[in-house]
Amino acid sequence: MAQAPINRTTGVRSLVTQPALEIRNLHKSYGDLEVLKGISLTARDGDVISILGSSGSGKSTFLRCLNLLENPNDGEIHFAGEQLKLKRGKGGALVAADSKQINRFRSEMGFVFQNFNLWPHMSVLDNIIEAPRRVLGQSKAEATEVAEALLAKVGIADKRHAFPNQLSGGQQQRAAIARTLAMQPKVILFDEPTSALDPEMVQEVLNVIRALADEGRTMLLVTHEMSFARQVSSEIVFLHQGRVEEQGTPDQVFDNPTSERCKQFMSSHR
Ligand code: ADP
Ligand code: MG
Repeated sequence: MAQAPINRTTGVRSLVTQPALEIRNLHKSYGDLEVLKGISLTARDGDVISILGSSGSGKSTFLRCLNLLENPNDGEIHFAGEQLKLKRGKGGALVAADSKQINRFRSEMGFVFQNFNLWPHMSVLDNIIEAPRRVLGQSKAEATEVAEALLAKVGIADKRHAFPNQLSGGQQQRAAIARTLAMQPKVILFDEPTSALDPEMVQEVLNVIRALADEGRTMLLVTHEMSFARQVSSEIVFLHQGRVEEQGTPDQVFDNPTSERCKQFMSSHR
């Protein structure tokens, strides 16, 4: 786990910090299938937590529950010192009890998907400025200035007027990351951001994510890029059948996993 952050003005390391994100005992079922069986996880400011596990272990469902893209059946979500207000919905799952609060949580929790999810009918620039204008109330000029800086940061400034289908997969994912950053998220959730990419494009996207880790962003990252996860993460969480099967520093989990399943997973992903 990362140390508490140093206050840039006073130079003092804070002793008491709120976790950026804290999940307690999250449960999720689809019908009779229990996919998440009580997951707890704490991310402090600057933590990069990689979530590993076989296909079907519940990684995407877990991320999607955090901003209620999926409705959990039980559990608590605390974000930036605030507990998400939930109530029991008709089907028995938990739904947002306060629409303003969940909208705010969603705007402050960036989500980067495997398939980019750019709007196909909008230019790259328009993709990026849409939410800051609509949700943050930025002027077009202001949002455009921020967007251009972000496009430069992810290395595709020259693509601002292109449409998504005119970009390579790696460029589309970098545009999607720029779009997420434009919302000034407090935490960024990545769900297999490089899994849909041709191998030669994986590195350019990982480099962008690495730069975000280096600037102290708080991130949860679902990935199968093992050596990358080992390099950038403060913590590794290994999920198996909806439970945290192993958890620890990258060195612990990669070199000395205690669970047999985690050992097997690690040895089959070298
Ligand atoms: P992972 O991301 O680790 O591959 P998922 O979270 O996507 O795993 O899926 C976990 C389990 O939940 C799988 O068995 C999957 O088939 C099931 N599942 C995921 N989404 C749905 C859904 N919308 N309806 C029914 N079952 C689902
Ligand atoms: Mg998944």
